Amino acid sequence: MRILIAEDEQVLAQQIKTVLKAEGRVVDMAHDGSEAEFLGSTEPYDLIILDIGLPIRDGLTVLKTWRATGIDTPVLILTARDGWSDRVDGLDAGADDYLTKPFHMAELSARIRAMIRRKTGQSNPVFSKDDISFDTRNNQVTVAGIPKSLTAQESAVLSYLFHNCNRLVSRSELSDHIYQYDGDRDSNTIAVFVNRLRKKLGDDLIQTVRGRGYVIKAIA
Ligand code: CA
Repeated sequence: MRILIAEDEQVLAQQIKTVLKAEGRVVDMAHDGSEAEFLGSTEPYDLIILDIGLPIRDGLTVLKTWRATGIDTPVLILTARDGWSDRVDGLDAGADDYLTKPFHMAELSARIRAMIRRKTGQSNPVFSKDDISFDTRNNQVTVAGIPKSLTAQESAVLSYLFHNCNRLVSRSELSDHIYQYDGDRDSNTIAVFVNRLRKKLGDDLIQTVRGRGYVIKAIA
C-alpha cells in the first residue's frame, strides 16, 4: 500500500514515514502544497496524509482541487489542536478522517488501516484463504497456524492482493502500489515476488490470469 505524506514539519514527517515504512507501507513525501497537489493528482496512492497548514498552497485548497478533479483517494487531514473549523471545512471538502496534532502514532496507524479497508470494501482486519491467514495489523502470515516470514516486498504484494481479493490485479497496478515515486520499477520483478510467495505459501493462493495479472479468490 502506497501512501503520500504531505507535511512540512520535517521531524513529524520523518516520524510518520519511519512508522509507516516499518509497517510495510511504501511512502512518498511532499513538503509543500504544490508538490502535494501534483503527486496526489498523478500517482495512484492508496491513502494521503495531508497537513492543513502547508506552505505555498494550504491543505484545504489542495484537497478541494483533488476532489474537484475527480481524485477520490482517501485523505486523512492533520490539523492543529485548536483547528476545529479546519476539521469541519476539511471533512466538508472531502476528507475521510482527521487527526489533531499532537497524536499517537498507534492511532494514526489504526486509522490508516481502517481507511484502507474501507476503500477496498473490507471490514475484517484478518484475511484468510483455506489455511492461510494474513493479519493486516502486524503483517503476520500463517499457514495452518504456523508463522511464515516474508520480505517487505513479498508482504506488500500479498497485502495488496488480499485487500483487492476477487479482483484481477495487473502487474503494472501492483508495481504502482508497491514502489515509491523515485523507486526502481521493473514489473518483471513482480513475477519473482509472486513465485517466492508461492514457494512459501503454496501454489493455490495466488492465481495467475495469463497475460493479465493475478487474483486471490477469497471469502471477504
Ligand atoms: Ca504545517
